[in-house]
Amino acid sequence: MTESVVERVLRIEGLMARVGDTDILHGIDLEVRPGEVHAVMGPNGSGKSTLSHVLMGRPGYEMTGGSVTLDGVDLLALPTWQRARAGLFLALQHPTEVPGVSLESVVAEATRTDGRTVEGIHDLLVTEASRIGFDERFVSRPMNVDLSGGEKKRNEMLMLGALQPRYAVLDEIDSGLDVDALAAVSRRVQEATEEDGLGVLAITHFSRLLEVLEPDRVHVLAAGRIQAVGGPEMAERLESEGYAGVLAEAGASVGLPRGVTHPDGPDAGFGEDPFADPLV
Ligand code: ADP
Ligand code: MG
Repeated sequence: MTESVVERVLRIEGLMARVGDTDILHGIDLEVRPGEVHAVMGPNGSGKSTLSHVLMGRPGYEMTGGSVTLDGVDLLALPTWQRARAGLFLALQHPTEVPGVSLESVVAEATRTDGRTVEGIHDLLVTEASRIGFDERFVSRPMNVDLSGGEKKRNEMLMLGALQPRYAVLDEIDSGLDVDALAAVSRRVQEATEEDGLGVLAITHFSRLLEVLEPDRVHVLAAGRIQAVGGPEMAERLESEGYAGVLAEAGASVGLPRGVTHPDGPDAGFGEDPFADPLV
């Protein structure tokens, strides 16, 4: 009997999606292979978080076209927990506070659901915490409750390190981190790409994350489409010049999709607070 060889790749093809009555993603094509790092950069409101939510299956985010496969598995046909089991991890831009539940129990439950032993989970998390210079007491505290933005981001990194998914979407994991924490987290993700063959889709506004976490490609997302693709130099150019030049060359503008108004005003692009959540 011949076994078919599964191609290892997270493949996003022509992905279209809407939130409520508004079409946000207008056809996204992206491929992430094991060990690769793909950065996604783009102005506020361009659809970056929407992409991450559609991939993970957040309720309210409706896919209207295209496909996503993870190592041959049709991801969009699965509920969120099965997408996680298939090997996808999402580090949220705004991690959720979960009163009464520790990070350790979340990781233990996910590990058990995956049919793996939970023995040694505590020690693993303590090791992961030390790898990113984080205090191990966060492992047993109620998850994310009363933590600073940077501490929440390191909690996401702890889960990523312990769960060892095949592919990780990092939605602004660098926001809120101080310089040292940023260096430690970028290094830890880079190590995961080398040690475990983790494939990474890193949404970010800053090239600093990408100094340690070396991107294979940088994709520029605006108005729900990938408007330009480049190498690491693209991230540096965007940071020094902003988005207008690159988008003009691509024949696009920083503006939002038609019909979408941004609470920060029509010109809200690479503004003063790149982490402002358009919905808050
Ligand atoms: P980014 O992460 O690139 O800043 P988002 O994906 O969060 O952008 O948002 C893209 C657009 O979709 C924005 O105009 C935003 O207001 C809109 N949007 C996102 N989520 C929702 C939602 N749950 N309800 C209504 N509009 C939304
Ligand atoms: Mg976002």
